[in-house]
Amino acid sequence: MPLRVTNVRLPVTLDEQHIGPELARRLGVDLADVTGWRILKKSLDGRARDNLKFVYSVAVDVADEENRLESLARREGVDRYLSTTFDDPPPGSAPLEQRPVVIGSGPAGMLAAYFLATRGFRPLVLDRGPAVKDRVTSIRQFDAGGEHDPDDNYLFGEGGAGTFSDGKLTCRLSGPDIDWVLERFAEFGRQPSVTWEQRPHLGSNRLPFVVRNFRRAIEAAGGEYRFGCRVEGLEIENGQLVALATSAGRIPTSLAILAIGHSARDTYQMLLETGIPMEPRAFQMGLRIEQPQDQVDAEAYARPEYRDLLGAANYNLVARGDRDVYTFCMCAGGRIIPSISESDMFCTNGMSNSRRDSGFANSGLMVTVLPEEFGADDPLAGVRLQQQFEAVGYRLGRSEYLAPAQRAADFMADRSPDPASRIETSYVRGSVPASLEMVLPATVISTIKWALPLLNRKYHKALLPEAVLVGPEMRGSAPVRIVRDRETFQSPGCRGLFPVGEGAGFAGGIISAGVDGVRAARAIVSKFAPVA
Ligand SMILES: Cc1cc2nc3c(=O)[nH]c(=O)nc-3n(C[C@H](O)[C@H](O)[C@H](O)COP(=O)(O)OP(=O)(O)OC[C@H]3O[C@@H](n4cnc5c(N)ncnc54)[C@H](O)[C@@H]3O)c2cc1C
Repeated sequence: MPLRVTNVRLPVTLDEQHIGPELARRLGVDLADVTGWRILKKSLDGRARDNLKFVYSVAVDVADEENRLESLARREGVDRYLSTTFDDPPPGSAPLEQRPVVIGSGPAGMLAAYFLATRGFRPLVLDRGPAVKDRVTSIRQFDAGGEHDPDDNYLFGEGGAGTFSDGKLTCRLSGPDIDWVLERFAEFGRQPSVTWEQRPHLGSNRLPFVVRNFRRAIEAAGGEYRFGCRVEGLEIENGQLVALATSAGRIPTSLAILAIGHSARDTYQMLLETGIPMEPRAFQMGLRIEQPQDQVDAEAYARPEYRDLLGAANYNLVARGDRDVYTFCMCAGGRIIPSISESDMFCTNGMSNSRRDSGFANSGLMVTVLPEEFGADDPLAGVRLQQQFEAVGYRLGRSEYLAPAQRAADFMADRSPDPASRIETSYVRGSVPASLEMVLPATVISTIKWALPLLNRKYHKALLPEAVLVGPEMRGSAPVRIVRDRETFQSPGCRGLFPVGEGAGFAGGIISAGVDGVRAARAIVSKFAPVA
């Protein structure tokens, strides 16, 4: 398709059939001359609440294009469409004695394994947790009040934190690597629109199937998964990785993609003790705010039919100051979940199903904390800060993984909630009234208190009246970076070890983690020959 038409605007009440006539109008050609088109991007212009529009960018084929191309490409909002090419090098020639190992089956590990497997490298994928089917059962048991399992929870097991994430496939980056990863999610999620929507969303209910479909494709291409296999040590000889010590025995390998996510604190500790270079990294701490979804819809949509057409509405707010406070991972029609891997800790995050129909809206309210504040000399100082406050959250939740909760009005007025009161939240194990001042450092609390009135004003005073706060929330990004070489993706402390994804501090979300995994896998493919 040689042409691209941008800024094609249609009322949201009109379906995509109306794109063709609009393209003909914009190009000044007959409708019959528009011989094909494909949506490249679709976004929502929500500025006029009573006249919402979809804005499309579309690749187009026109009849007799060789003769017309030059003049058409001069029209406003029309240019030549140059598709970018995904870099897919042929395998290199350096010999490998063992197949590569991928540690962690979250988005970073899964995409790395998929790339390696489909290029003939038969990767061995290890995960400390179980396969996704068993994981779904464990999560249900936990939600019903069961025990917490440090290897099988909302964060650990097949698909990693991605499996019970909200499944928003947004990414601030763009380019062929991002497109390639989105195409894989579209393929395995059977939802082609994720490649062009501005806010693609799979939903937590679909992610287990997506993760399973990835595994089937990896296995079909010669890869292998081992669940319940926790990596506990690295064997290094003369700076080169030679084997992994795991809970299921020694695994010889000279190449390992380390995709452990940001919550494998025991593995971070092991890496530090092994001498793998790591450094502390800025990360976010905060609370989760929740209100009835109806309020958010009323704020976004002036016409009732918009709710049926567009589903639960979301918001994205920021208060700028000495320290910004911003909303994060807004889960429209979702629910609050425990984002914990270690036992006796409590921390929140949010998810939603594809129908976004819980009746609640929740979002993180985040503040960035810097290594200078919590200990720039200790690579794991940020982890220790998280642990300190997550332990407080656990105790406030009666040591039963209940969610400490406080009405926003009480939080702002420094009023302790009545311990006998009932605060309704979407968190299924239940909540307990608590003063949230205790779950975060004082500087973070005072910043949120400064920001909430500003955010409320920006949101036409609809953010706070019925809002409830829960917390702490602090697993939005890694507080650590596992240092690696820019070109080779390998740790300077261990040749053959490729730290990737969110846990290594190089990604912040499903797609960016997947892309990071693919890039490391590509570095392996371009250098080595697959093991026979
Ligand atoms: C509730 C929630 C909602 C989210 N919503 C979104 C969203 O809507 N959109 C978005 O883009 N992002 C979202 N995220 C973030 C997203 O899930 C992560 O950015 C992403 O999963 C990171 O991928 P990863 O592969 O780097 O790590 P992870 O997904 O954390 O995977 C790490 C894997 O490594 C395994 N592992 C750890 N240590 C070891 C070891 N020693 N040995 C063997 N295996 C090990 C773990 O079991 C896990 O499977 C959400 C996260 C949460 C928790």
